[in-house]
Amino acid sequence: MALSGIQIFKFLPKTNCGECGVPTCLAFAMSLAAGKAELAKCPYVSEASKAALSEASAPPIRTVVIGSGDSAVKVGGETVLFRHEKTFVNRPGLALLLTDTMEDAEIAARVKRFGELRYPRVGLILKGELLAIESKSGDATKFKALVDKVKDVPEANFVLIANDVALLKAGAQALAGKKPLLCAATAANIDAVGALAKETACPVVVRAESLDGVAALTAKLEAMGVKDIVIDTGSRKIREAFIDQLALRRGALSGKNKAWGYPSIVFPNEMTQDPIMESLYAATFVAKYGGIIVLSDFRGETLFPILLERLNIYADPQRPMVTEPKVYEIGNVTENSPLLVTSNFALTYFIVSGEIEASRVGAYLLVVDTEGLSVLTAWAAGKFAGDLVGAALKKSGIADRTKNRKVVIPGLAAIISGDLEEELGPDWNVIIGPREASHIVPFLKQMVA
Ligand code: SF4
Repeated sequence: MALSGIQIFKFLPKTNCGECGVPTCLAFAMSLAAGKAELAKCPYVSEASKAALSEASAPPIRTVVIGSGDSAVKVGGETVLFRHEKTFVNRPGLALLLTDTMEDAEIAARVKRFGELRYPRVGLILKGELLAIESKSGDATKFKALVDKVKDVPEANFVLIANDVALLKAGAQALAGKKPLLCAATAANIDAVGALAKETACPVVVRAESLDGVAALTAKLEAMGVKDIVIDTGSRKIREAFIDQLALRRGALSGKNKAWGYPSIVFPNEMTQDPIMESLYAATFVAKYGGIIVLSDFRGETLFPILLERLNIYADPQRPMVTEPKVYEIGNVTENSPLLVTSNFALTYFIVSGEIEASRVGAYLLVVDTEGLSVLTAWAAGKFAGDLVGAALKKSGIADRTKNRKVVIPGLAAIISGDLEEELGPDWNVIIGPREASHIVPFLKQMVA
């Protein structure tokens, strides 16, 4: 649970020595609560206080890692009900279903789509992260053969779905070191599946038909020393599953039910046969509060909107997405290539750079630090003024890389041209570019014609 500044203050030495960079312990506590400082900056906090603070500040929903290495998926770790309160922390993982009764060709096609359906957006690669491998046959040999077939799929993390602990064991052994999610421990098999999770250090799903049943199972696993738990409430109807997600999140955040303080797994693939409805259900769980979302298939037309929704909902609303301020080379540049200027709002950068790319005219793009504001907003806030853009251009060193002395400014910021010319001096020619990014292609083609 996030602690308030006053709660944190109680654990600090209260000597007001100032060595942490702020004058008082209270000010330091407030900075810690706001996430603007680190406890390590105070050299005088006792070990007991450190331990107490770390336990008390643990998120009410446990963070669970599935997989290993750079592409592992982290779910949970959430601290708020609503995104505007703070931010959501770990994006839900999207899982593509494979079953041991599917034909080889179908498996191969799905694995291909898993690898290919990835979308670069605002400097990130949007994609699904997990393969959910389900035993439909109940045959351990078939299940293990499927796991063996896909275990080396690049960047895949795994959910193993089977009722029989022997199958889960066979799958976990085949995926040794990859920390698959074992699905699921139920009242009938919790001792065996819990022991397997403990032995393999794999995260594990608990499944029960009621939320009280879930609480009993998570408490039992906790007592066994298994802490990386994911909750399946067993609901396979959208309404019930949705209500369950709300109840789990509210219960965990209010602190009334710590046994619900784990991320969840949901199965839109089992809620409908209609792919469009399935993607709508998945979108619902992206917003409210699925930890892992299992889809019957990955198709571009349904996966992409879910990925985009996930990107938006899990972006920090208090922190604009920014691009590093510097000169970018787009396409094949030469010393005579045009130079364009824009702001460091990520969306602006990606739209402008995309249009330059589409023009097939090699160009330099100077991204000015506007603290994540778009061009017009930045100009209105005094962060895209002529003297600032001129100073950024000089500092960038672009004058040493190009003979071209023409700089193209966004049409929306035409008003800065006079100040910019004054800042840059007579060697530079300021050209007013298009007001709309969509006009960049013809503009650049005409400029180099
Ligand atoms: S360094 Fe520690 S003791 Fe000193 S003012 Fe900061 S919080 Fe207080």
